[in-house]
Amino acid sequence: MIEPNPNISAMAAYALPDIGAPGEAPLVILAQNEHPFPPSDNIRAAVNAALSQGNLYPDADWRELRAAIAAVHHLRQDQILCGSGSMELMLALVTAYLSAQDRILVTEYGYLFMRTLAQLVGAAIDSAAEKAYRVDIDSLLGAVRADTKLVFVVNPGNPSGSVIHNDEIRRLRDGLPDQVILLVDEAYAEFVDSDFHDPLFDLVDRGNTCVTRTFSKIYGLAGMRVGWGLFPAHIGDNMRKLLNPNNVSLLSQVAACAAMRDQTRAGEAARYIAGQRVGLSVALSNLGLSVIPSQTNFILVDFNTRNRAVSAFEYLRGCAIVVRPMGGYGLPSCLRITIGLERQMQRTVDALGQWKAQQNE
Ligand SMILES: *Cc1c(COP(=O)(O)O)cnc(C)c1O
Repeated sequence: MIEPNPNISAMAAYALPDIGAPGEAPLVILAQNEHPFPPSDNIRAAVNAALSQGNLYPDADWRELRAAIAAVHHLRQDQILCGSGSMELMLALVTAYLSAQDRILVTEYGYLFMRTLAQLVGAAIDSAAEKAYRVDIDSLLGAVRADTKLVFVVNPGNPSGSVIHNDEIRRLRDGLPDQVILLVDEAYAEFVDSDFHDPLFDLVDRGNTCVTRTFSKIYGLAGMRVGWGLFPAHIGDNMRKLLNPNNVSLLSQVAACAAMRDQTRAGEAARYIAGQRVGLSVALSNLGLSVIPSQTNFILVDFNTRNRAVSAFEYLRGCAIVVRPMGGYGLPSCLRITIGLERQMQRTVDALGQWKAQQNE
């Protein structure tokens, strides 16, 4: 047999989410934190118009897109990199900086993709305990070792949905050695109101901190694959050696530009989703379920035992509703439910109400 690299063969196959069999009645998919609404007319018009240039390579420098991002967030364009999803940027950062001699520090319930990246480069991974599903800065600082090279924090968290204040992230940065890279994944930042938006972008000027965001969540372009991030110039230069030089397709760049320029729509989406999230959280709490407080487009529901979570998952699946089991995150008693349309949320509440009524408790 032809053998792959040993670290690759040791990796588990990517677990595809359940999206139903062909011919099966359409499912309500609440498993991938997707946006409930399709792209706006503005986005569609821009994409349609750009199609006529489909014979040309896209702008390898993402100039218009970087300008649109910089204008909204008051950033320096030369610190912005765009990726085929923010996952591509994380991959480039880890490939460029981590090796089998290094350690990556993550939080207990942090994004699993970082574990995949650690395996890819053979780096060891350490995990810092969270407190009540929240990132705990002291436990992170306590888990830093001499060979820790990257600390990865997701804020707001996935799958917890919880937020820690950016002052806490600043305290983390201040407590880390200068030669440790801090990567803050802010895929859900735009869902948080309050004073979260005292943004972290200025930390990037210190030369050792990176922040990633995405068009997949608030902007509803998961299918277009566009992420972006802010990176110190010396780190960005090395990452660019690894990115596919035409990594973001022409149509994706155009769609992302139109989405970024329409902050009104993003704000409306955030308000709609927050309203549905509150409604779903209250309804499930009224059913006696424990809902972890979330500021994102999903909620984590703790069913107390693995068996109850499996039973609820299967009941929902029988009602053509697909949510996300959390065993892979070390949370086998939990399910993660993406916030969708009002009628989808109502169906979910009804189904879980029926499930609850069936339990002999
Ligand atoms: C959805 C998500 C992303 C976004 O990934 P893309 O590659 O930009 O689609 C990043 N981080 C976390 C934690 C996410 O949940």
